[in-house]
Amino acid sequence: MKPRYRLTTMGMISVCAALASGTGIAAGEPAAGTGDYDALDYTVSLEYRSSTKDMDGTTTLKARATEPLSGFALDFAGGKVNDVTVDGRPARFETREEKLYVFPHRLARGAEFTVTVGYLVTRTNGPQGDGPWREIDDGFAIAPQTHETMHRVFPCKNDVTDKATYTVDITAPSRLTGVANGDLVETSQLPGDRTARKYRVASPMPVDDGQIAVGPYSRITRSGPDGVTIRDVVPTAQAGQLRDTLARTDDHLRWLTAKLGPYPFGTYGLFAPPGAVGPYESQTMSTIDAATLAAGKADYVRVHELTHQWFGASVTQQTLDDNWIAEGHAHFYGAWYDAEQSPPTSADAFADSMRMFYGMDQKIRAVEGPPATPKPISGQTQRAGGALALYALRQTVGPQVFEKIERAVAARFKDSVASTADYVRTAREVSGRDVTALLTDWLYGKKTPPMPGHPDWKPDPA
Ligand SMILES: [Zn+2]
Repeated sequence: MKPRYRLTTMGMISVCAALASGTGIAAGEPAAGTGDYDALDYTVSLEYRSSTKDMDGTTTLKARATEPLSGFALDFAGGKVNDVTVDGRPARFETREEKLYVFPHRLARGAEFTVTVGYLVTRTNGPQGDGPWREIDDGFAIAPQTHETMHRVFPCKNDVTDKATYTVDITAPSRLTGVANGDLVETSQLPGDRTARKYRVASPMPVDDGQIAVGPYSRITRSGPDGVTIRDVVPTAQAGQLRDTLARTDDHLRWLTAKLGPYPFGTYGLFAPPGAVGPYESQTMSTIDAATLAAGKADYVRVHELTHQWFGASVTQQTLDDNWIAEGHAHFYGAWYDAEQSPPTSADAFADSMRMFYGMDQKIRAVEGPPATPKPISGQTQRAGGALALYALRQTVGPQVFEKIERAVAARFKDSVASTADYVRTAREVSGRDVTALLTDWLYGKKTPPMPGHPDWKPDPA
């Protein structure tokens, strides 16, 4: 498991695991004759039945060959492939390790093709419980971000930098509700008292950023700030109890939009499973369990996850090393909002919060590495260290210029990917100052640098 840390000093609860790496699952040697492609659009269909962990699935991927192909690979594990077609014609295939190799008719460079895989998937996690499946009494949800494990749900190109659009079609007994992130576009009644719901994710999404779930849920939609549709999915039995806390999303959205510019998508909302699932974000949807929301203490985590709509879902980090862009921003704005909401203890509660993390930073760096070169298992250095780097930049260029930088990154790399170098270059261009050395020290240094404007801040004693 990637660690989830608990910041009890601030009343924070654990937050989403880091988004997965941008390198994809590259286990094993590529099969002879296989080559690369650009994933464009997925249609994922799954059927849930109450009595079994097996689900019938069909996945159709539209893709473009980026080189001449006589074969290509999808990532897939945890299921059995029944049949594969390419452009409607049966194709030879092999499954090996966690790959599905497909050998179609020859495809020219630039050719668009459609591969359809019929399969059976079993909702079972790995030996250490690692995997995407989260079972509830009658239903499930997924937590793909913890392990780069979306290929355990459906065959896909498990590379978060190859963003694609999605249609997710979930069939379940009619007493339950099939849920996905994105917008509900179609509901159909099927024989046998089943209901199919089709959701569309129309903006390009990193493959590990989806949510698929089934359970006793109600979808509640309303108009939110700035024309954003608010769509919450909650256990039907708790809809009344959660109404007031759900309404806080409007303030979170207004607060972040004032700092980062327009919300990147048309819809946002919370998904509140009844079990211990989450917290993590999917495009347009944050999964935070119903008990945490009902307790009413979730401002930090809600703003953290909402920030990921800008940094994570819309601006996706290029590699695992760049993940501080997602987690550092989420922590920075989550801690800032939380500080503003807390009873005032000083003139600058946000600075107090950053000072606490500053004190811890040297120890975190020693264990996890610097924010932009973390060791493989990391979390705090990207979150707290990344947030401190942003705070140091803000202290250096001033709040107004910092806000311009943030808005420029969000706008320039919208629906795309960004690297640490992209962030630093944008900061330099927008501020007109050479902030490269400052950010390099903060993002790559083994030692915690001095905090600009706060010469009295010191690392906690060892
Ligand atoms: Zn996060």
